[in-house]
Amino acid sequence: MSASGPVVVIGGGVIGAAIAQSLAARGTGVVLLERGHVGALPSASGASAALLEPLAGAEPTLAAMAQRSLDRLPGLCDSLRASTGIDPRWSRPGTLFIARRDREASWLRDVRAPLFAAAGASPSWLNADQALECEPAISPNVIGALRIAATQSVDAPSFTRALVAGAVLHGAVLMTGTPVNGFRRIGRRVVAVQTDTDEIACGQVVLAAGAWTATLARQLGADVPSVAVAPQRGQIMALAPRGTAPRVRHVLHGAGGYAVPKPDGTIIVGATHDDVGFDDSITPDGLRFLGNLVHELIPGLASETIQRTWCGFRPVWRGQDLPPWGSVGPLENLLVATGYGAIGLTIAAGIGEAVADQVTRR
Ligand SMILES: Cc1cc2nc3c(=O)[nH]c(=O)nc-3n(C[C@H](O)[C@H](O)[C@H](O)COP(=O)(O)OP(=O)(O)OC[C@H]3O[C@@H](n4cnc5c(N)ncnc54)[C@H](O)[C@@H]3O)c2cc1C
Repeated sequence: MSASGPVVVIGGGVIGAAIAQSLAARGTGVVLLERGHVGALPSASGASAALLEPLAGAEPTLAAMAQRSLDRLPGLCDSLRASTGIDPRWSRPGTLFIARRDREASWLRDVRAPLFAAAGASPSWLNADQALECEPAISPNVIGALRIAATQSVDAPSFTRALVAGAVLHGAVLMTGTPVNGFRRIGRRVVAVQTDTDEIACGQVVLAAGAWTATLARQLGADVPSVAVAPQRGQIMALAPRGTAPRVRHVLHGAGGYAVPKPDGTIIVGATHDDVGFDDSITPDGLRFLGNLVHELIPGLASETIQRTWCGFRPVWRGQDLPPWGSVGPLENLLVATGYGAIGLTIAAGIGEAVADQVTRR
């Protein structure tokens, strides 16, 4: 915290929550402002499947950030559960990438497996019998599968709430139902953040409002570069298989989507990538896509009950460079952390630490 006030973090999604938690745990004064409820829809963090996989073959800075996050997660989730009483429902289900055609099998074995090996993720190849033995609900037409043991998962809303509760335990002030609608500047500093009812003095400001960050950044003044983030709707659903249905143990990948088993027995199937602005409809096309995924990935569960469908808005980066986590200039006490699209849950714990490093100048 600088002499002129706390760090004000705007946005109580997983990114703002992770930043607030990391800062507060270091003894920095934090105010976290969320316009609705933490981890609620249609925020991406309320919607996410929270499949957390090493980013093998991705841009190296992002891959390293993901690894920093994944290394931190088991201990972080344990300590949040113990200290806050909120269970992030961490698990390590591992992943099977399903191959049903020869070219898929060669791509997985020859291209993906070495990338996962280089990322330290212990890939192994299962033949058809082994894949079916381990996951009886998958298609009998499988010809093999690449298994990644390292894949983790959490419950996204619970993880987000646990991070916020952890921040509050370390002294952070949480204000929900508090939309930020403006800023007061003196020269190259933001000196206060404005809400409908208050003006909150700040030493530093972190914009972490997900897909809504571009709108917020426009309130800062014409000299601040635009934040190139846009919403992308993800439609997704949960299946609640009966006790007699084959149990899914691994995250399953294929056919342009995934199925993520959760510790309570539900299976999250997703997700669409719809560039439709902030339209939060569930559509027939979306449902058809999700239904097809079930048929492609887990046909053994195609007659099980759909428990729930929902959608949220991924903050997708449309800029030239990587999405930012830090200063974007020209304001000297402004940081931006958004635009992580479909990997925000995976890298959140790392981003929290990286932004806290910058704020506390470690
Ligand atoms: C269907 C779906 C599935 C996904 N699956 C995965 C996955 O398996 N693995 C993975 O790593 N990622 C996944 N993602 C992506 C991941 O969920 C996001 O990248 C991540 O949640 C983004 O977090 P965020 O905090 O940046 O944004 P958000 O979670 O959207 O949070 C932004 C917050 O800012 C608040 N806000 C906005 N404007 C204001 C304002 N003016 N004042 C105050 N508060 C404001 C909003 O209310 C919101 O709570 C998925 C996303 C979706 C939609």
